[in-house]
Amino acid sequence: MTTPTTPGYSASPDRAAPSRTSPDRAIADQLHSGDEHPDLLDLARHLDEGERRRLQALEDFAQRRIRPESIEPWNREQLPRQLLTELGRLGLGEISVDGSSALFQGLAHAALARADLSLSTLVGIHNELLVGLTDSLGSPQQRAAWLPGLRRLETLGAFCLTEPDHGSDIARGLATTASLQDGQWHLQGKKRWIGMGAVADLALVWARDTADDQIKGFLVPTDVPGYRAEGIRQKTGLRIMQNAEVDLDLRVPESALLAGATSFSAVHAALRDSRAWVGWQAVGAQQALFDIARSYAAERDQFGRPIGSFQLVQSALAQVAGNMGVSTAFMGEVTRLQAEDRLTMLRASLAKSTLTRLARESASLAREVLGGNGILSSHEIAKVAADIEAVHAYEGSYGINLLIAGREITGISAFG
Ligand SMILES: Cc1cc2nc3c(=O)[nH]c(=O)nc-3n(C[C@H](O)[C@H](O)[C@H](O)COP(=O)(O)OP(=O)(O)OC[C@H]3O[C@@H](n4cnc5c(N)ncnc54)[C@H](O)[C@@H]3O)c2cc1C
Repeated sequence: MTTPTTPGYSASPDRAAPSRTSPDRAIADQLHSGDEHPDLLDLARHLDEGERRRLQALEDFAQRRIRPESIEPWNREQLPRQLLTELGRLGLGEISVDGSSALFQGLAHAALARADLSLSTLVGIHNELLVGLTDSLGSPQQRAAWLPGLRRLETLGAFCLTEPDHGSDIARGLATTASLQDGQWHLQGKKRWIGMGAVADLALVWARDTADDQIKGFLVPTDVPGYRAEGIRQKTGLRIMQNAEVDLDLRVPESALLAGATSFSAVHAALRDSRAWVGWQAVGAQQALFDIARSYAAERDQFGRPIGSFQLVQSALAQVAGNMGVSTAFMGEVTRLQAEDRLTMLRASLAKSTLTRLARESASLAREVLGGNGILSSHEIAKVAADIEAVHAYEGSYGINLLIAGREITGISAFG
């Protein structure tokens, strides 16, 4: 079988030519310096021509702009808004609802994650949870009011589920209340870890209806009196992503109830899909690790030779490439099942837990290639590694995703 060429896979970051003092140019010239796309399996060949071109445009932008321009904001815990505006122009605010193929969506999320995991998280939650749920469960009025701005990435949203006292046990323990009084919902409670909580225009708040004890969703403009958010500072990962503590004591009209979300089971499919999306983040993160470590191995000389010529360094690079290949293949098939509407919670939980575990292992191997520079965010790899720690912890912690998979495998819940 011949493999069609895929022009979409030629993107590579701008890198200064290595200043080499070693006389051993021959070895250095044999080493790849990162000119090839790290998707060793070339999944993009399954896209049609139009989507390949869109992916290429996104990869070019992500490597040329997002990758370098996210480093300083990451160090300063700031949101680079101009990059969001441009991502909106590239259509990244609506890939979950604009008819894009499931594979294009996955590869687009990986391309973003390869450049910066915080912005990838923001765009992922925006598409999977804000846009996706407003589109699928919102009333015609809610869709008309919120979707146009969300789709352009001009309206930013926050998904407010986790609470200070309830993380892993949120479905059981959620304590924020919603009471319908005189035609208005009174929402009261506290939320924690809410991405974009202090920056967003719209909050999708999950609260327990005091009348029937069901968990329901509410679309809340963040400028209503009684919505108060304070940024969580000094995170060691995803530092661009603005997480917040949110204090709620507010009233919204009866029409703010997300029409189709009258019990928590309504979001089951969205939470399952968003677990699978994290698998694509793990793919992109490992592509970044591979890019950085491979370039460094070509550029850094020790003992008069590039370190990429040493067996142990090649072993580390090969292990990262292997983990990345396994992750890519897994997500390729998960996405195919998703497109056939056959994504199960077992597959999604295994994608999230297994691939973030592999990403963590890859981060450790890739950092080692950079020696001391492996702990400097200016060499990027420390930024990627720190971000992977956060990705490992959210969308259901690593352990909880294993337990969800364990429950599906054995039929017995370990949650008690
Ligand atoms: C960077 C980041 C962004 C996030 N963004 C959002 C967001 O936008 N919106 C939102 O709603 N939430 C968000 N979260 C919250 C995230 O979903 C929670 O952090 C996650 O669900 C874990 O909850 P927790 O931190 O309270 O940990 P806990 O639930 O307290 O768990 C602590 C540890 O105990 C383990 N554990 C808990 N229960 C069990 C058990 N029964 N058996 C074995 N082990 C167990 C867990 O695996 C974990 O290792 C975000 C979190 C982070 C870190």
